Amino acid sequence: MTQTRRIALVAHDNKKQDLLEWADYNRELLADHQLYATGTTGKLLRDSLDLNITCFQSGPLGGDQQIGALIAAGELDLLVFFTDPMQAQPHDPDVKALMRIAVVWDIPIACNRASADFLITSPLLRDYRPLARI
Ligand code: PGA
Repeated sequence: MTQTRRIALVAHDNKKQDLLEWADYNRELLADHQLYATGTTGKLLRDSLDLNITCFQSGPLGGDQQIGALIAAGELDLLVFFTDPMQAQPHDPDVKALMRIAVVWDIPIACNRASADFLITSPLLRDYRPLARI
């Protein structure tokens, strides 16, 4: 039995379809966890997969920072963030800040589909506790 984990889902515009397909494929697994997302990503996931998701602001309007705040408060266990390597983001400082704070607190991050597959199927999901939190 997998422990309920707190997972944030974020995708840049050109990667939203990728995340939707990934989340659809892994819907059963995701449904066991507490899910968070930036505004647009979260609404798309909620509408298409009927998952219970806490949606923050859209990323460029502060959603990335809200997810960063969850990490700083010790309230997030895993970040799935499908970034777009081909396009500059207007909120690049927020993107960098989110990645940085996730690294600071040793939060597992998946920035593409293969990494997300590895994380969501890891046996460590059951009881892993990052050293930064011990
Ligand atoms: P969005 O934000 O889900 O509101 O599009 C994603 C992002 O951080 O760019």
